[in-house]
Amino acid sequence: PEERVFNFAAGPATLPANVLKKAQAELYNWRGSGMSVMEMSHRGKEFLSIIQKAEADLRALLDIPEDYAVLFLQGGATTQFAMIPLNLCKPDDPVDYVVTGSWGDKAFKEAQKFCMPKVIWSGKSEKYTNIPAFESLEQNPDAKYLHICTNETIHGVEFNDYPTPKNGILVADMSSNFCSKPVDVSKFGLIYAGAQKNVGPSGVTIVIIKKDLIGNAQEITPVMLDYKIHAENNSLYNTPPCYGIYMCGLVFEDLLAQGGLTEVEKKNKKKAELIYNAIDESNGFYRCPVEKSVRSLMNVPFTLEKSDLEAEFIKEAAKEKMVQLKGHRSVGGMRASIYNAMPLAGVEKLVAFMKDFQAKHA
Ligand code: PMP
Repeated sequence: PEERVFNFAAGPATLPANVLKKAQAELYNWRGSGMSVMEMSHRGKEFLSIIQKAEADLRALLDIPEDYAVLFLQGGATTQFAMIPLNLCKPDDPVDYVVTGSWGDKAFKEAQKFCMPKVIWSGKSEKYTNIPAFESLEQNPDAKYLHICTNETIHGVEFNDYPTPKNGILVADMSSNFCSKPVDVSKFGLIYAGAQKNVGPSGVTIVIIKKDLIGNAQEITPVMLDYKIHAENNSLYNTPPCYGIYMCGLVFEDLLAQGGLTEVEKKNKKKAELIYNAIDESNGFYRCPVEKSVRSLMNVPFTLEKSDLEAEFIKEAAKEKMVQLKGHRSVGGMRASIYNAMPLAGVEKLVAFMKDFQAKHA
C-alpha cells in the first residue's frame, strides 16, 4: 500500500512526495488550529495566512513585479479563454492569436464570442509540430492583445522565447509549463495557468495580470468573471478553492526550497534530454514529430515506428508501475508528461524500459 507509481499523466499530474506527506501530516489538525484546512473559514486568520503566504512565495519564485496582481480563481484555464476577451476587449476589438496546438485553438474559438479574434499563425497543417518565426507574424497593429500558449500539452510544443506584441499586450496560457523555469513576467500583460500540472491539484487557476489592465470588463461580464472584483477582494470575493490554494502554497514552498526556478529548470532540462536522446538514438524505433528546437520540456509525445506495438508498450510499462503513458486521443501514440514533480528516477526508469522494449522488438 505504501508503493507509488511513476505517474506520467498530463494533468492532474504527479505531486511532490514531500508535499503530499506534509499535507497528510497537517490534514487532521492544521498547525494546532484544531481543524483541517478544508474546514476553515476563508475569512479567518488561519486561511488568510495560507493564501497570503502562497501569493508571497509565488511572487518570490517568479519575481513578479509590484504592478501585477496575483489572483487565485476557479473554472480552470478554460474559463480564462472567455474571461480574457471579456475583460480586455470590447465586442468589436480585434485581437491576434498564434495557434501552436489544440489549446490555443480552443482559446481562439472561445474568444470569438466576445471580440474579433484572428488566427495570425496556425501550425495545424503541419500537425502542430512547430512555432513560427516571430518576424514573420503579421500582427494587427490595433490588436488589443496577442495570445500564445507557451506550452501545448497535447502536441508537446514549447516557446523558448516570446514574440513582442506590436500594439498591445502579450497574453499567455502557461497551464502546462507554469513555474517550470524562470519567466520575465514584465514581458506579459497576463499569464494564466490551471494548477493541476506543475503546482497543485485541479480547482485552482492562477492569473498574473498587470494592474492597469484591470477594470475594463464588458458590461455583460458576470461578477465571477471580472478581474476587478477578484483583485479588489484579494481572491476572496466568494469562497475560493481553499484546499487547492493551500496545496499550491506547499508546492511553492518546495520549489523555493529547491533553490527556485533556475534550479528547477536545470532538473527539467536534464529529464527531458534523457527521453529525447533515447528517442533520437533509437534509429527510428521511437519518433517524436516535434521540431527539435521547440520540443517541450514538460510533455514528450512519441510514437513507435511499429505502431501496432504501442498498446503493448503502454501495457508493459504499466506493469512496471509507469502509468498514464498513452498519448492524447487526438494524436495517438505515447506521451510522457514530466512536470516538476516527476523525479529523475522516474525518467531514468522510463528510458531504461524504452531501451529494453526496443531490444526485444527491434
Ligand atoms: N490550456 C492548456 C495548455 C492545458 O493543458 C489545459 C488542460 N489540459 C487547459 C488549457 C484547460 O485547462 P482546464 O482543464 O484547467 O480548464
